Amino acid sequence: MKIIMLGAPGAGKGTQAKQIAAKYSIPHISTGDIFRANIKNGTELGKKAKTYMDQGLLVPDELTCDLVMDRIQQDDCKNGFVLDGFPRTIPQAESLDAALEKIDQKMDYAIDVDVPDENIINRMGGRRACLNCGATYHIVSIPPKKEGICDHCGNALVLRDDDKPETVKKRLDVYHEQTQPLIDYYAKQNILKTVDGTQPMEAVFDAIVSVLEA
Ligand code: ADP
Ligand code: ADP
Ligand code: ZN
Repeated sequence: MKIIMLGAPGAGKGTQAKQIAAKYSIPHISTGDIFRANIKNGTELGKKAKTYMDQGLLVPDELTCDLVMDRIQQDDCKNGFVLDGFPRTIPQAESLDAALEKIDQKMDYAIDVDVPDENIINRMGGRRACLNCGATYHIVSIPPKKEGICDHCGNALVLRDDDKPETVKKRLDVYHEQTQPLIDYYAKQNILKTVDGTQPMEAVFDAIVSVLEA
């Protein structure tokens, strides 16, 4: 099963992608997590990506596409994968399609987790991230067991640099301009499924499972 998670920043793509990956035993591939790991490790890619991420802008397609194409050709992706945060532009979607076509494959589902902008600002302000294992929480709706500490690995949780309100606004603009057109792109391919992302986390997951098992 090859799945793309679509949706605004903060819509809950990562939260759902992790659960899908666990339920169907397929890898969760988050370009945001890959960039943040590179930043943490001080790699060249990380240094380049950070200048864009801090401004709420997209990392250029040249830096993003090869990385994903390499990743999806690894052995653990044989039975499928869930892409979270990629593609984010039409050219990225086209390179993904082209790469899959070469090996006679195609994406199965693009799931749009639909959440209006009004809800996003609140979600991002309350998001806390573990930069060690990638887990995410929300201080009100999905709190960790112990305040400020990751349930999975015990590391300290942080507010991401790009989750500050000014940057969130910019990221939403970028989303509407560059990423939202993908909704039409996948509707035309007949693989678009929309779920109401304003529901509680468990209800959103149930809606996704119904789509995948329909
Ligand atoms: P969110 O989960 O809140 O949408 P991500 O972790 O997916 O945020 O992405 C954080 C930042 O990483 C983005 O704002 C962008 O700068 C960069 N990024 C992640 N994925 C991509 C991508 N596919 N193309 C370009 N930039 C990306
Ligand atoms: P994305 O990957 O789309 O940027 P996340 O999965 O990181 O989004 O979720 C953004 C924030 O909203 C996080 O703080 C997360 O804990 C919280 N969140 C995720 N799903 C829900 C939900 N259904 N209801 C309320 N809060 C949610
Ligand atoms: Zn952790």
